[in-house]
Amino acid sequence: MNTDFLTDLRAHARAYADLLRPTALDRDRNPDLAVSSPGCGLPWRTFAGLPAEYNPEPLRVDGRPVLLHSCVERVVVLEELARVDAGAVLALPGPSMSSSVIGDLADDDQRQRFWERITAEPTWTFFAMTEPTHGSDPSGMRTTVRRDGDGFLLNGTKRYIGNAARSRIGIVFARRGAGPLGMVAVLVDTDLPGFTAAPLSTRGVRALQLSELRMAEVPVTEDDILGRHRSATRQGMWAATRTFNRYRPVVSCLALGVAQAAYDLVVTERRGYRVAERHLLTDWEQRLTGTRALVLAAARSADANPGDGTLAAAAKLRATRLAEEITTTAVRLLGPGARWEHPILDKLLRDARAFEFMEGTGNVQRLTLAEGYLQRRLPDVRAA
Ligand SMILES: Cc1cc2nc3c(=O)[nH]c(=O)nc-3n(C[C@H](O)[C@H](O)[C@H](O)COP(=O)(O)OP(=O)(O)OC[C@H]3O[C@@H](n4cnc5c(N)ncnc54)[C@H](O)[C@@H]3O)c2cc1C
Repeated sequence: MNTDFLTDLRAHARAYADLLRPTALDRDRNPDLAVSSPGCGLPWRTFAGLPAEYNPEPLRVDGRPVLLHSCVERVVVLEELARVDAGAVLALPGPSMSSSVIGDLADDDQRQRFWERITAEPTWTFFAMTEPTHGSDPSGMRTTVRRDGDGFLLNGTKRYIGNAARSRIGIVFARRGAGPLGMVAVLVDTDLPGFTAAPLSTRGVRALQLSELRMAEVPVTEDDILGRHRSATRQGMWAATRTFNRYRPVVSCLALGVAQAAYDLVVTERRGYRVAERHLLTDWEQRLTGTRALVLAAARSADANPGDGTLAAAAKLRATRLAEEITTTAVRLLGPGARWEHPILDKLLRDARAFEFMEGTGNVQRLTLAEGYLQRRLPDVRAA
């Protein structure tokens, strides 16, 4: 994908992003609006990353359909949307992170079941890894799927799961045996007995509606176990790692969109700068550009090899830090009462805090980055 194409793609996305603007604050106040208006003003199928056969209205750039299947396409388009409302991007109906697991693990029947289910009408999905007492560390996972006659029973609690209370189908990671190879991904319909999901009260990216899932003896079958035809080394843990590596550049682009939006607001609203403030703005401009290049390099790396998350970790660290820094300092630059006078700044400030936690905190990214460095996996970013 050459630079001209990506520039055109960005311009198209920017035009669509304007559709999110009138309702961004309403969605922040009332996340249920993301359901009563699926797509939040956007044609949701266009941005959901659906397979070609299920997507009658793809984004078109220079006459060419753009299906948002590659990480590179996603980071360019979603950054522009996040510049208006990161919450809306995360609240779009569609496969979201589940598509990566389905692509890596599902057999033909499971794939057909998943895509037919979620494309017939606006349908949300979830990716449930994190648990209340063990976080997202898979080694402490307590959710289990155990044999019961011809089928299985699913038991456990998941917390901080995006869109789950509004989803009709999703992926639950559960333990079938000990150790990393004992973790499997289960495709779960939310209308099964014993399955409940409730929204949590949150402050950032509220439209995403983080939820808690409870599963008490939920009956599932062999057909629901993703990757059942694969070896144990190519099941739940393997697919989850590849999903994180593919979606950390996406989280990075959302953080970058929020950082850019806060910068834009300062430049629009502030009248006159001290010398030190001018230097600060120049520094931000350079770091926004540099971070954008790093996010793109991470996306290219994820497309080429989703098994390597080194650059994705670097991009997430840098973009998250920039979003926190610019939103916080923007409040100071726009003076006392800035959060009241500019409700969108108040939202940006709260949204920026979410990215630290999504798909692993900064310390976990530092560990991944250090491991990649020690194993000489850091490519020359200038060439990417
Ligand atoms: C907006 C949002 C959306 C989310 N969506 C989802 C979702 O859809 N599905 C899902 O499953 N989860 C989701 N989560 C949960 C998120 O993935 C986890 O909260 C995140 O991965 C952090 O994991 P944790 O809570 O286990 O914290 P931990 O990883 O336990 O971290 C706790 C603290 O310990 C530090 N720490 C941890 N390990 C180390 C270490 N080895 N060395 C040094 N310090 C360490 C961390 O930096 C942090 O400060 C979401 C969270 C948010 C905020």
